[in-house]
Amino acid sequence: MHMAHPGLPEFDYIKPTSLAEASRYLAEHAGEARPFMGGTDTFVRMRDGFWRERYLVDVKGLDGMGDIHFDAQHGLSLGAAVNMNRVIAAQPVRDHYALLAEAARTVASYQLRTRATIVGNITNASPAGDTTGACMVYGGVLTVHGVDGFRQVPLEGFFVGPGKTVLRPGDIVTAISFSLPPKGIVGRYIKLGRNAIGDLAIVGVTVLGFPDDKATSGYRFRIALASVAPVPLRATLAEEVLASSPIIEDTIPQAAQAAMEACSPIDDVRASARYHRFMVRNLARQALLDAWQQVRKSD
Ligand SMILES: Cc1cc2nc3c(=O)[nH]c(=O)nc-3n(C[C@H](O)[C@H](O)[C@H](O)COP(=O)(O)OP(=O)(O)OC[C@H]3O[C@@H](n4cnc5c(N)ncnc54)[C@H](O)[C@@H]3O)c2cc1C
Repeated sequence: MHMAHPGLPEFDYIKPTSLAEASRYLAEHAGEARPFMGGTDTFVRMRDGFWRERYLVDVKGLDGMGDIHFDAQHGLSLGAAVNMNRVIAAQPVRDHYALLAEAARTVASYQLRTRATIVGNITNASPAGDTTGACMVYGGVLTVHGVDGFRQVPLEGFFVGPGKTVLRPGDIVTAISFSLPPKGIVGRYIKLGRNAIGDLAIVGVTVLGFPDDKATSGYRFRIALASVAPVPLRATLAEEVLASSPIIEDTIPQAAQAAMEACSPIDDVRASARYHRFMVRNLARQALLDAWQQVRKSD
C-alpha cells in the first residue's frame, strides 16, 4: 500500500533553559539538531522524510521570546515565538503595521496561526512565505543569539536559497524589529492560492507606499514578491520607476512590468513559470493601484 506520509521518525525533544545553553547545544550538534517554535513547518518536513534531525530543540519558551514591545521612538519588536494570531490582534500592529496583519491573516487557518510564527515563516526561508514580504518592506531586522552572543541581522541579504539563510549552527532568532513607518504609509498584500484557504501562494505581491519629498514623484513604494524566485524578492527596479518620475496613467503598468521582469519563476506543482510571471504583472498592477489610490487620499 502506498503511504503518502510515512509518519514522524523518532527524535529527542530537547528543552534548554537559557539561550546560552540552547545556542551551545545547537552548535555542538550541528547537522543533527534544529531549533523549532510553532513546529508547523518542522513536523511536516520531519513526517515527510525531508528532515532527519535527531534532536529538536524547543526554543519558544526562552528569555523574552513571547514578548511584544512598542514605542514611538524604537518602533515594534516581536518576540520570535509570538504566534500569528497574537500579531494580528496586537494594538500597535493594527495602528502602525497593518500590512503585517493583512499578510498574516492569509496564512492557512485560525487554528494553524495559533502555532505558526512570523519568525518561523522567515527562518523557514520558503520563497512562498506570506508574511516574509511584509517584514521585508517594513525593513525588518532580526535579533539573533549565537555562540558568541547577540547580533542584529537585517532581512536584506538574509535569504540565500530555498530553505537557506545566513544563519549558522547555534544561531537562534529571538525577535524581529521594525522602526516606526513613515507618516501616511499604506499597504496591500495580494495572495493568489489554488483555493480560498490554507494553501501556499502561487504568487504573493506585497506593496507599501508613502509620501516622500525626496522622491521625484513625491512618493516611495516598496514591493516584495513571493513564490517567483529561489528567494523572497524585492522588486527594486519597479520601485525606482515609481519614485523617479511623476506617477501618471502609464507609470503603474510600467512598474508592474518591471516587477514581472525581476522574477525568475520555475514550473512547479502549482503553476507554470509563464503563469507565475503574468500573474505577477497583473497582481502587482492591482496592488499598486490600490495602494496608490489610498496613499493619495491620505496625503
Ligand atoms: C497546514 C499548513 C498550512 C500552511 N499554510 C501556510 C500559508 O498559507 N502561508 C505560509 O506562509 N505558510 C504556511 N504554512 C507554513 C508554516 O505554517 C509557516 O511557515 C509558519 O510561519 C512557520 O512558523 P513555525 O513557528 O511553526 O516554524 P517552525 O516549524 O517552528 O520552524 C520553521 C523553520 O525555522 C527554523 N526556526 C524555528 N525557530 C527558529 C529560531 N528561533 N531561530 C532560528 N531558526 C528557527 C526551524 O528550524 C525551521 O527550519 C503552512 C503549514 C501547514 C502545516
